[in-house]
Amino acid sequence: MQDIGATSTASPAWSATSWKGKPMAQPIEYDDQEHLSEVIKRLENLPDLVPRYEIDQLSLLMQFAAQGQLFFIQGGDCAEAFSDIRPQIIKSKQELLIAQAEILSDGLGVPVVPIGRIAGQYSKPRSSCMETLSCGSVVNAFRGENINAPNKSSRSPDPERLAMGYHFSAVTLSALRTFRNRNENAINAAIRPSSGVFTSHEALHLPLESSMTRHAYNTSAHMLWIGERTRQISGAHVEYMRGLRNPVGIKIGPSTSPTDIVELLDTLNPGKMVGKNVIITRFGAKNVKEKLPDLVQAVHASGHLPVWLCDPCHGNTYATPSNVKTRFVEDMLDELKTTFMVHSEIGSSLGGIHLEETGEEDVTECIERASVNLDTAEFPEYRTLCDPRLSRSQGIDFVKTYADFFRN
Ligand code: PEP
Ligand code: MN
Repeated sequence: MQDIGATSTASPAWSATSWKGKPMAQPIEYDDQEHLSEVIKRLENLPDLVPRYEIDQLSLLMQFAAQGQLFFIQGGDCAEAFSDIRPQIIKSKQELLIAQAEILSDGLGVPVVPIGRIAGQYSKPRSSCMETLSCGSVVNAFRGENINAPNKSSRSPDPERLAMGYHFSAVTLSALRTFRNRNENAINAAIRPSSGVFTSHEALHLPLESSMTRHAYNTSAHMLWIGERTRQISGAHVEYMRGLRNPVGIKIGPSTSPTDIVELLDTLNPGKMVGKNVIITRFGAKNVKEKLPDLVQAVHASGHLPVWLCDPCHGNTYATPSNVKTRFVEDMLDELKTTFMVHSEIGSSLGGIHLEETGEEDVTECIERASVNLDTAEFPEYRTLCDPRLSRSQGIDFVKTYADFFRN
């Protein structure tokens, strides 16, 4: 589907498929391109997954967050599993985000709005496109349920999975609407969508994302983000995202320079709309003090006013000697607190927290340094398809600790 494009926010050359002329990082190689095109055509004709007025509603809330008057808690799986599309699991994710929003709102004294990494977080970038199994054979890496099956014997990309992803997203949204707490107070009702939590995912799979783009709205989620691995200024992902009317996130790691970030903002948001972009910093606890101040100052000097979120997960990942990917909760808290301090000292404000977490209680994927060490850590319930998630109680304790720190 050709899209006529946004009016004031994009240059005339933008369309939902103008990314096709640009180099693409993290591409997905399909054996059967015709099959892919046929699935994409089918998706173009399916209904919007989220209402456009809710996308505009989130854009408005972003303006408040950019100015320090509102806070976001964005959280969910690194990669959602199709096998987790079950009522109790969906409900537990929604309940966790809403509980975290309430704890943070009490502590921070501002409205706190939940955004799930949910109902579409099915496409993953990977640092290596191949994976060596313990038996020695080499297979394609798992790239998210939209692309290939986590089951190791069948890792070929299958276009039909994109249609499955659409339907699973629709079912998840429908479940979220059913579970939404009807008793929430009037203030919360006004700042939450019909699904109780706003939805978001990484816009990695561009044929899919453009098939869901109508009149410059990506209707598959309220918010989309560009990953750390696909944020090249002249690349396909930035080209696609620059024309969208949705709030657009950008993940940035420690290699990002002040010039990089200002160029990205100028490209994604030439009109310098307040809160249009969400910069999600994921530096690693050790790097925040050194890297973040220059970036915040450069952005401030450029006249952009984005929302700043802290992702304390992706810069703090370790492999155990037996090669289990994990994170120490203490490092994550350290990154979050330091990020908050840097913003406060410069007169900027932290607008939210971005976490990988699950509503399930028994998951053992992230660990506490106080109780285990890396050499002996055990992970009896390690179920994530990709990166390690905080369990429900780790997720609750995490925001409680931050709220207490903020109060004092
Ligand atoms: C992620 O959010 O799961 C991810 C891959 O993050 P990043 O792009 O920041 O590495
Ligand atoms: Mn991840």
